[in-house]
Amino acid sequence: MVTPFHDETVASFIHRIAAANHVSDKDLRELLGVRMLKRTPITALIEPLSIVTGFNESLLRLALPEFGPEAVSNEPGHFGRPLAQRMRSLERPACRRCVHAAGITGQVNRWTTHEKNVCLRHRLWIGDGCVEADDQIDISILTSTIRAQRHHRNLIPRHGRRQVRDAFSGARSVFISLVENRSADPFGVIAEARLHLRDVGGQPAPPSTALGILFHPQIVTLTGLLANREWVRRARRSGHVGWLAGEVTRRGILVGYRPEKADPLFQWVETHLLHHKFMDFYGYRSYGVFFPEETVRMPPRPRPLAQPSPAMPADAGHSPGPS
Ligand SMILES: [Zn+2]
Repeated sequence: MVTPFHDETVASFIHRIAAANHVSDKDLRELLGVRMLKRTPITALIEPLSIVTGFNESLLRLALPEFGPEAVSNEPGHFGRPLAQRMRSLERPACRRCVHAAGITGQVNRWTTHEKNVCLRHRLWIGDGCVEADDQIDISILTSTIRAQRHHRNLIPRHGRRQVRDAFSGARSVFISLVENRSADPFGVIAEARLHLRDVGGQPAPPSTALGILFHPQIVTLTGLLANREWVRRARRSGHVGWLAGEVTRRGILVGYRPEKADPLFQWVETHLLHHKFMDFYGYRSYGVFFPEETVRMPPRPRPLAQPSPAMPADAGHSPGPS
């Protein structure tokens, strides 16, 4: 089933296809037989577009996200793709150097997915914090951030897109909050990094963006840890988060980390377990509520009702270390 779109989306869709094919919007509308923009659902455009282009409909559904399925789908080729729905899609400027290399002078915005934060070809940060193409920052000096991009991509086949996407948004906010709460920049590392991380206009990256770029390797490592169901299994078995906290230090994410009830990682853990209880109860359709922006596979099979959750808060101060 294809999600219905607003008429503005139909207009912008026609504008985009017309521009790419060097024809006017009016000519394309006439070619496709679209008379009333406001009354034409986007699904009605697949058939005429297929006739005009010579591509079959299944190919058009793969090429154009507007024709794609709902957020949760098992249709081959349709998971792991950006959603093109108003108010939900993740839209960022494409790498400005890739755009220039294609001979395009203006900014190109694209629907994207959470793991596309670095253009590996041009060593440019294209992730969080990039609202305009000129906000993209050269990170050639940060080889570990560039390596983290590959690491992040490899986590998806290992743990599943649904888990990695959820874990990454959590890991990023958790890690930045933990660093900011400690308010420690004893060697001036962050201030120094901001001097080097500059946009096209020479302006230093905003502090939150600089933090996200500088600590991207730690954030991606934390993502891998949180996406791995091993910590959930151990927490449920032992009733505390000692193993998870120990791994945070052992993997070099935040050395000496000790969980406290009020800290951001602890709060994420509690919320995460609550979400899973909710989804176990209400089924896969609720995934779309918690994980917008990208299409994901359905879970392999419906799971039984959740078991009682572990007594996390009581053992928050358990000493870190593998259990
Ligand atoms: Zn590029």
